[in-house]
Order: sequence, then structure tokens, then C-alpha cells
Amino acid sequence: MAVKRDYYEVLGVSRDAQVDEIKKTYRKLAVKYHPDKVPDEQKKASEEKFKEISEAYAVLSDTKKRSQYDQFGHAGIDGAYSSEDIFRGADFSGFEDLFRGSGFGGNVFEGIFGDFFGGGSGRGQRTSRGVDLEYAMGLTLEESYSGTEKTVELYHTVTCRKCGGSGSEPGSDTKACPQCNGTGRLGYNRGLFSFSQPCGQCGGAGKVITNPCKKCGGRGKVKESSKISVKIPAGVNTGTSIRVREKGEAGELGGPSGDLYIVIKLEPHALLTRRNDDLYLEAPISFTTAALGGEIEVPTINSKVRMKVPSGTQPDKVFRLPGKGMPSLHHRGRGDQFVKVTVRVPVKLNSQQRKLLEEYEQAGGGNNKNIFKKMFG
Ligand SMILES: [Zn+2]
Ligand SMILES: [Zn+2]
Repeated sequence: MAVKRDYYEVLGVSRDAQVDEIKKTYRKLAVKYHPDKVPDEQKKASEEKFKEISEAYAVLSDTKKRSQYDQFGHAGIDGAYSSEDIFRGADFSGFEDLFRGSGFGGNVFEGIFGDFFGGGSGRGQRTSRGVDLEYAMGLTLEESYSGTEKTVELYHTVTCRKCGGSGSEPGSDTKACPQCNGTGRLGYNRGLFSFSQPCGQCGGAGKVITNPCKKCGGRGKVKESSKISVKIPAGVNTGTSIRVREKGEAGELGGPSGDLYIVIKLEPHALLTRRNDDLYLEAPISFTTAALGGEIEVPTINSKVRMKVPSGTQPDKVFRLPGKGMPSLHHRGRGDQFVKVTVRVPVKLNSQQRKLLEEYEQAGGGNNKNIFKKMFG
């Protein structure tokens, strides 16, 4: 979709323009771009322009919508209103002459804004996109590390292959919907303008089925289970959502299917904890290694590495293994692995160990008296 221009820019008014000025400017532009007043070959372009200025006017002339637009831009409007809602509350009084007797059957909204309101004025098929689906997928840390491919088995609706989604038995006719006389829409009036909404009986198709498809019973879609293969990129984390196009629920009357979103949940790892792209590990070392220094072997996500422990290492000291973390989903490179060493004190000593430690203590190693000396004087 084209990027929407700023509404103030579209009308060429300043951001603090009063409603009167906005009205005046809109009238000028509406006269200029009115599709009835331009040669045929320019009609399409002027229709587009007319829509653009009318939408800008509809928003900026409405205090509430204007303040939402001022605060949040197009997102504040598009997120809160359907296209029809944008126009529904707009004050087009004073513009009657512009719309009366136009080449659109006297109804500018039906003619020009028809496609805004869902599928034109109803002639022909009214298809619509299917609903999106979400699928929760558990993944091990290793699978996230390397990336993987998974097969998802999904029970969802798909467009009926026999009738192509029309709901009609192949070869049989449909007839014009008696409720809406085949237009697919039912009109209602609101002041100057008439709006219309999709006909309930035919769902906006304008046609009703005379001989329903035997496979889908006229629904145009069937429920079935599908096996869908999904590529999982390396680095995904809990909450990562992967879109698989058009694997959601089938659309109406053969319209496109919705999308399938695979939402990742990582299973806990026996040793490693993940935080963003970094991994955390607790590695127990003996109190002698802590005191004397040494080298230990620590597991990483895909192998193990030797890590130096300097002499005099204190409990809970954290070492960093650069680049040993998870691959980043969003940029190149990897996170780090952090190793916290916990110092293990032996629960049981044999007589030789005990003797050596007693000697160590007598040599001043176990002198606890000095620890609090500073504190107690
Ligand atoms: Zn069918
Ligand atoms: Zn109908």
C-alpha cells in the first residue's frame, strides 16, 4: 500500500488551521478534483485525489479524530477506525451541491468510496481473507542455536478444491440474491449520504447458491489437517513469532487464507540459562582450584571449552567467554557465555587430606581471627 501523506499536507493547511479554513480549503480542492469535472482519461487519478482530500477532511474536521491524528499520526486513525468509520461521523453539510447529480448515481460514497467499504458496491463475488492462526511451538535451546526445520500438523479450514471456494456444485448456476436483488449490499441513509452494508443473506456476494457443492456443503471450504513445514531461523527466543503466509484459515468464497504464526517457546536447558543472546552457566570448582588456580572444562551450547581459573578466585566470580552465546536473530554475531564459578567445600576428608589441611591451618592458612580484626579492633 502506498504511504499515506500527511493530512495537513494533503489539504495544504497549517497544523493549527481552524475548522472554517479546513472547510473552505476542502471545498476548493473538491471542486478542482471532482471526478465529474475532468476529462475521462483523468477520472481515475482525480478519483484517487478526491478520496485523499475527503479522507483528510473527514479526519481534520472532526475534533476527536483530529486530536488522535495530531498525537499518533496515521496509526492513531487507522488503528481506531475502519475506513467507513472515518467518513461516518464527518460533517459534509454545505457540500451537497458537490455530490448531487454526480456520475456515480448521485451517491458519491457508493461510487467513489465503494472500495473503502469492503468489496465495491457488491456486484460480483465478495471474497474476504481468512483468519490468522497461532501455533505454539516448543523448541530446545540447541534447536534455537542451530536453526531447524519443523513439521507442524494443523487442523484448519482450506478452500474447497472441488468448487474453488464458490460453494456451488461445479457446473450449476447461482441466482441473484432475493434480499438485495443481486447487489450484495443493503442501503441505509444517514443524512445527506446513503451508506450501504453487505447483505446478510448472501454475505455480500449478490448471489445465492442453487445447488450446493457436495464436498463442502456450500461453505466453500473444508476442515482438514495439513502438514506444514516451517523453517526456524537460528537465534529464535521465547516469544519470537514466525509468519507462514496463507496457512491460516481459508478465506470466504475462495478469498486468500489468513496467515499462520508460529510462536516459539524455549524449553529450559539442563545447564544453560538464556538471557537475550547470552548464556549463563554455573560451574562448580574445588576450593583448591579456586585457591591455586587451574584450568577447568566447561560445557557450551554446542561443545565444551577449557577455561583458565586464576589463583585466588573467589566464590561466585563470573568469567566471560566471548562469542559463545546464541546467534543473534536480528544482527550478525553471537552473544557471550558467562560462567559463574561456585566453590565446593569437601564434605568428607580422608586422613591424608585432613592431615594436609591441618598443616595448612597451622601454617596460618586457616587463621580466622584476623578476619574481623578491623571490625572489632
Ligand atoms: Zn465445495
Ligand atoms: Zn444478498
